[in-house]
Amino acid sequence: MTRALSALIACLTCLQLSAKANDCRNYQHNDSINAELLLTDLRVLSSDDFQGRKTQTAGAKLARDYIAQQLALYQVAPLPNQTDYLLPFHYKNGLTSVEGINVAAMVAGTAFSNKYIIVTAHYDHLGKKGAKVFNGADDNASGVAALLALARYTAKKPLKHSVIFLATDAEEKGLFGAKGFVQTPPVALEDIRFNLNLDMLSQNKGRNRLYISGARYYPELVPVVGKSKEQAGLCLVDGHRSQQRGSIYASRNNWRQASDHAAFARVGIPYLFIGVTDHPYYHTVNDTYERINPDFYRAAAETSLTVLLNMDALSP
Ligand SMILES: [Zn+2]
Repeated sequence: MTRALSALIACLTCLQLSAKANDCRNYQHNDSINAELLLTDLRVLSSDDFQGRKTQTAGAKLARDYIAQQLALYQVAPLPNQTDYLLPFHYKNGLTSVEGINVAAMVAGTAFSNKYIIVTAHYDHLGKKGAKVFNGADDNASGVAALLALARYTAKKPLKHSVIFLATDAEEKGLFGAKGFVQTPPVALEDIRFNLNLDMLSQNKGRNRLYISGARYYPELVPVVGKSKEQAGLCLVDGHRSQQRGSIYASRNNWRQASDHAAFARVGIPYLFIGVTDHPYYHTVNDTYERINPDFYRAAAETSLTVLLNMDALSP
């Protein structure tokens, strides 16, 4: 009896311990990133001044200028052979050729400087309809602000791999910024080990979960996800869930194609995609700074850094 009882107590303790990690009811913060700067970046990028950051608008230029200014402020350098952070590209809209502009920076690696991890987040959004601004706070000012937080961290504490930080344009139009990057890559594609794509990190409406997908296609990334789930200060779920059929939020159901990581996957670069699933504010005028969940978002950004560090720990 005693032995059975002690086994039972040990088991309850182990359950308690495992409930702490990856807890779906609470968030824990590890203070790996500066929460004030994180939230400021999100608030500024999704403010009315930026007019919804639609490609080829003054709002998109304001967003680029802000991202570039932050990168410069925290001494994250432009890509090698680049004098500034801007990477223009072209895509077809019907018969017209349209210019979009990505923003890119790099922190050289300490051990494998000729191997790259590319962190992506699209900065463009839907712009305005009439007088209504689509602020795109969650989609995807949240990913860009997290990307800036990861860039600040990495600039202070360089990783083993070189890390490229790429804020893409024209994602909403068809992933054109990411496609443009892989069409004329500034580094050889075979030297890019992984893509970590951040798209929508700040809405936990009803479901207290952050999703990470991609590992099912790339066995080498399975342990990265496993370890990150153990370390995450929130509930990190392996694989994006589809919404109910016929739901008005069903537009992003094909998660493999849902965001910029698809352009990297197409050229054989393994990816992990981090984001929430669609929510009632998705692509509406209600996707505003006031409606995000700051505590969840902060834990989501910290978890994105955890995933990046676990990717970096793999050897080339
Ligand atoms: Zn998006």
